[in-house]
Amino acid sequence: MALSAEQTKEIEANRAEGNTTLRAVSPALEAILYDAIPVLDHGFIRVIDYMGDDAAVVQAARVSYGRGTKKVNEDAGLINYLMRHRHSTPFEMCEIKFHVKLPIFVARQWIRHRTANVNEYSARYSILDREFYLPSGDHLAAQSKSNRQGRAGLVTGKEADRVMELLRGDAEQVYDHYIEMLNETEGGQIVDENKSGLARELARMNLTVNFYTQWYWKVDLHNFMHFLSLRADAHAQYEIRVYADAMLDVFRRWLPLCYEAFTNYRLGGAHLSAKALAAIKRMLAGENVTQETSGMSKGEWNEFQAVLK
Ligand SMILES: Cc1cc2nc3c(=O)[nH]c(=O)nc-3n(C[C@H](O)[C@H](O)[C@H](O)COP(=O)(O)OP(=O)(O)OC[C@H]3O[C@@H](n4cnc5c(N)ncnc54)[C@H](O)[C@@H]3O)c2cc1C
Repeated sequence: MALSAEQTKEIEANRAEGNTTLRAVSPALEAILYDAIPVLDHGFIRVIDYMGDDAAVVQAARVSYGRGTKKVNEDAGLINYLMRHRHSTPFEMCEIKFHVKLPIFVARQWIRHRTANVNEYSARYSILDREFYLPSGDHLAAQSKSNRQGRAGLVTGKEADRVMELLRGDAEQVYDHYIEMLNETEGGQIVDENKSGLARELARMNLTVNFYTQWYWKVDLHNFMHFLSLRADAHAQYEIRVYADAMLDVFRRWLPLCYEAFTNYRLGGAHLSAKALAAIKRMLAGENVTQETSGMSKGEWNEFQAVLK
């Protein structure tokens, strides 16, 4: 994560500025507000703002006049009930805003989550930094033979060295060409006064998708949990999953009761089909159920077995 001295100073200044408010605050989240939490080699997430706490969910569910809090265990019970029964609108009452720095190929997956508000750094307006993602050796994964969307094992030895050489070399080269076409240095200084320089909005088009972009991303808690359930999941690509994992920790700090309910009923729970449920009932009754007798397809059966492990 490369924060310039100026960026670090801005964050420190924000953190030094105290505000008073009548609104609910979350002390554990305040402790890391504005701080950049590193993700991947140059990326980060930062919480910029948030609205609501666990009591806000309870308050909305009860449509109460006061804070809604009775006792912590009663609030936890209600939040658990709402989560279990997918009574989702009270969770929409809390919101969070992040500043995220991420590779473009991760951003392409992320942006598919349409129920958030996004404002991206403009490469039409500004020059992108010479910052691109390179996987570390333990994430230089080989293509899975059984899952076309997955990884299996590692690329190692000379093959790994060559892959790294290509990834680094290609990114360095396209960035050099980008700067050459712009006729500007990374800092925005004109290189050759006799050249006009290609427009920033055009020069960026040859950059590889491992270059970093940045955005502000604001989402309500209901849609945040939907994002986390898909992206903090083993099926998600590692490079987006690490962002979701970092956000899970933010969630834990922000709304401990909602986090507990989410990890219990959603993230750590499982959705079972009617056939899967019937198979479990038959197993509990002592029957030896197989894929053939379960009525499930091979794929479904494998997923079912994975849930039971
Ligand atoms: C492991 C994994 C693999 C994936 N692989 C692919 C892939 O190969 N190709 C690909 O294109 N995408 C892929 N995706 C992206 C995926 O299909 C979704 O686009 C993405 O996860 C966003 O989910 P979402 O639409 O539920 O989220 P959001 O856009 O945040 O929407 C949340 C919910 O709001 C509702 N909603 C939002 N907009 C609409 C709408 N216009 N109409 C109706 N309901 C709406 C839906 O209920 C939706 O679930 C993959 C995602 C994952 C997690």
